[in-house]
Amino acid sequence: MTKKIYLDNNSTTPCDPRVVETMLPFFNEMFGNAASRSHPFGWQAEEAVDYAREQVANLINVDSKEIIFTSGATEADNLAIKGVFEMYAKKGNHIITLTTEHKAVLDSCKKVEKMGGDVTYLDVKEDGIVDLGQLEAAITEKTILVSIMFANNETGVIQPMKQIGDICKKHGVLFMSDATQAVGKIPVDPKELGIHLMAFTAHKMYGPKGVGALFVNRKNPRVKVTSQMDGGGHERGMRSGTLNVPGIVGFGKAAELAQKEMKQDAERLSKLRDKLESTLVNNLEEVYVNGNVEHRMPHVTNLSFKHVEGEGLMMTFNQNIAVSSGSACTSASLEPSYVLIALGLGDDLAVSSIRFSLGRFTTDEEVDAAIELLTNGVNHMRDLSPIWEMFKEGVDLDSVVWAEH
Ligand SMILES: *Cc1c(COP(=O)(O)O)cnc(C)c1O
Repeated sequence: MTKKIYLDNNSTTPCDPRVVETMLPFFNEMFGNAASRSHPFGWQAEEAVDYAREQVANLINVDSKEIIFTSGATEADNLAIKGVFEMYAKKGNHIITLTTEHKAVLDSCKKVEKMGGDVTYLDVKEDGIVDLGQLEAAITEKTILVSIMFANNETGVIQPMKQIGDICKKHGVLFMSDATQAVGKIPVDPKELGIHLMAFTAHKMYGPKGVGALFVNRKNPRVKVTSQMDGGGHERGMRSGTLNVPGIVGFGKAAELAQKEMKQDAERLSKLRDKLESTLVNNLEEVYVNGNVEHRMPHVTNLSFKHVEGEGLMMTFNQNIAVSSGSACTSASLEPSYVLIALGLGDDLAVSSIRFSLGRFTTDEEVDAAIELLTNGVNHMRDLSPIWEMFKEGVDLDSVVWAEH
């Protein structure tokens, strides 16, 4: 088998061919700068950006004036967190977030701490979901922002956004969400949920890389962020820089397609995901599903194969299947995933985890082939493993004193 099977759609998705087609004319025929107000080249580009802004806004049911285009979700997270911290400095300096957030949020919060901010990092429950009582108790007079992601990139676990929104509203605190993994895959309506700022990106929803957006609520309340990029005052002064017109056009098309197709994609993919998950759990011993399985994205499963080290398991596929072990962002190192550790997994189960994320272009045949490769790979690894042998013989591994090396 030589064809590669891509089950890593939470890291990035392929650009839909319909998106590519829509983008192409904007590289040469219609290359204008959307900020050029004095000639038709500029007007044409501006019109295309306006149209894409509508498409993106429609997907999340907001006004197009509330969409600030950025270079991606990382930039949108930075703009939201640092921008609110600076803009609302008079009101307070306290931010609440979760230990399981994406690095773009966690590292923005670290930076805010260096700038004199005070950040509370809440732990999650064993299923990956925030404890609402703890969240409410953490809010103080100084709290200006709660930043909680919509769906986790590693586990697919979905947070109770409406309840979090209600708590924020009750205490007059802004609610920001990194919704990168949810937008375009499941219905997301920030106004209905009480979300005031929301980050997302095109390349996780079959659009191009290098373009994303921050939704900023304009009415009740009117939210403002201090720009982090100074220059020509684009994007209503919140994000300077010449707009990536082809990218934005592609983002718009991807949003339109997602709106039309998310329901059927989600139905198909959840069946495939369930098949993958249940077959592996049935075929193999000691396989654990990580995170809440009811409040979870339809295309994601995160599994731990006990006593099988994830990176080693991946080698047995000879790179025929693309998956992630641990977090994509830390997969250069063998650190156990901080997200799984936060769910209470020991190092051993955390390093034996694999994230499978299916996508619009995943086929039944690919899932069947992946099941076979995975089953063989896990069996192969365990056959070679003295620890697995001891485990099968009933040795209590926790009581074994290992020699230092
Ligand atoms: C991918 C991802 C990001 C980063 O998005 P970019 O557009 O690549 O900067 C941020 N947050 C989450 C949850 C993600 O999955």
